[in-house]
Amino acid sequence: MLHVGQDDLRGRFETQRKAFAAESFPDLQTRKDRLARLLALIDDHEAAICQAIDADFGGRSQHETRIAELFVTRSGIRHASNHLANWMRERRVATSLPFLPASNRLMQQPLGVVGVVSPWNYPLQLALAPVTAALAAGNRVMLKPSELTPKFSSLLARLVADRFAPDEMNVVTGGPEIGKAFVSLPFDHLLFTGSTSVGRQVAQAAAANLTPVTLELGGKSPAIFDPSCDLDRSVARLAYGKLLNAGQTCIAPDYLLVPKGSSAQVTAKLGAAVARLYPTLAKNPDYTAIISDRHLDHLKAMVSQARETGAKVVEINPANEAFGDRSRKMPPVLVLNPGKEIRLMREEIFGPVLPVLEYSDVGEAIAHVNGGDRPLALYWFGRDPAVQRRVLRETISGGVTINDCLLHIAQERQPFGGVGASGTGAYHGEWGFRTFSKEKPMFIQSRFSSAPLLWPPYGRLFDRLYAMLKFLG
Ligand code: NAD
Repeated sequence: MLHVGQDDLRGRFETQRKAFAAESFPDLQTRKDRLARLLALIDDHEAAICQAIDADFGGRSQHETRIAELFVTRSGIRHASNHLANWMRERRVATSLPFLPASNRLMQQPLGVVGVVSPWNYPLQLALAPVTAALAAGNRVMLKPSELTPKFSSLLARLVADRFAPDEMNVVTGGPEIGKAFVSLPFDHLLFTGSTSVGRQVAQAAAANLTPVTLELGGKSPAIFDPSCDLDRSVARLAYGKLLNAGQTCIAPDYLLVPKGSSAQVTAKLGAAVARLYPTLAKNPDYTAIISDRHLDHLKAMVSQARETGAKVVEINPANEAFGDRSRKMPPVLVLNPGKEIRLMREEIFGPVLPVLEYSDVGEAIAHVNGGDRPLALYWFGRDPAVQRRVLRETISGGVTINDCLLHIAQERQPFGGVGASGTGAYHGEWGFRTFSKEKPMFIQSRFSSAPLLWPPYGRLFDRLYAMLKFLG
């Protein structure tokens, strides 16, 4: 794949900046046309996109690509296109009494040239969902997808170049070195999706230019089974949420907290639920592979450490298959009551490995969650409204799904983003539009302003008016 050099990178940025200066407030039709081209890009090439991602993963379920990437991306583009006129509308804002009859208005203005850096795990969705928001808000966009999905990234670069002028949108391919140069450009906003450690470096590079950042990062998202939950239903939903994309999902449940004494029962039910979803694994096209040998070795090493430190490791292999040396499919693994200090309990897992820990009361489960970094997602399964309220109020996470997994990410009418170590800022739907807009407050003075009554020379009039203002302001 031909990657751009740093001069070329700068050149592309300058071209976009000039184009933005020439059209600093694209009208509704122009923005809708850009969104329509983005939609056509995925609609016309669905099969090629699925194949490229499948090849990059060495086995990515095409059904998962359709539902978790194409469907979600398409819904986001349609939602933005349908609501754009309303989002762009200049709004009247109330004016407080001392300033009447002047008026307040709020304008949503494009920021300029926006940078988007995306990861490999959902390469289409996590590239194009931020792009949707940035284009809807009237910006020019440069996108750097991941080097770990080279076939998809070069396909996307080609498809974008066919449908967009380079000064509207362009795709820059390359790895961390290009990534570093990319995030050092003086963008008007930068949205980065990826790991917390790289996110920290991106925030530092952006700070040098005072470029505002939205950081969509990862972390350890807990799932909690309350004693009041419907266990069979909860287990089935958790198994699906954990094993979609073989657990390589930023909001996958990372570990499971279950009531004391129930881990054996939960383990047995999880084994059965996985077997229903995936009766076979090794050659099953529904079960996605791990992205690279390096990632697979990393997951295996974490499981080995758990075993060596005395945790009970249960591999779920419904058809007792052998996994050849060259296969990157990894059978799901449950790790019961692991020690707190092992890597599995300290690092984001990002694969089909689920630690199961017992807790004695809800306070202990909450303390466990609050003992770590703030997670990107939290899942609570149960029917007891008082406990649900307590968990929601006493933990802080990017988002929550109750009695299921993952689905809060697909709600275009809700913001999506992390908090603390799991991210800064949010997007999706109108929140995405606002992320990439300058919300510009305007105060419009009237011909009949009373402000001069408070001007110098100061005297008794000022004192009298000031005495009244004390009660009005
Ligand atoms: P990563 O941080 O390794 O890479 C992400 C992107 O950053 C890639 O395009 C990469 O080339 C680029 N990059 C790497 N080093 C860089 C640097 N120094 N400067 C600038 N860019 C650089 O992440 P990944 O392995 O691709 O993705 C997995 C991580 O992403 C997980 O932690 C996961 O939780 C997180 N994630 C978060 C979300 C979310 O929406 N919050 C979604 C998906 C994945």
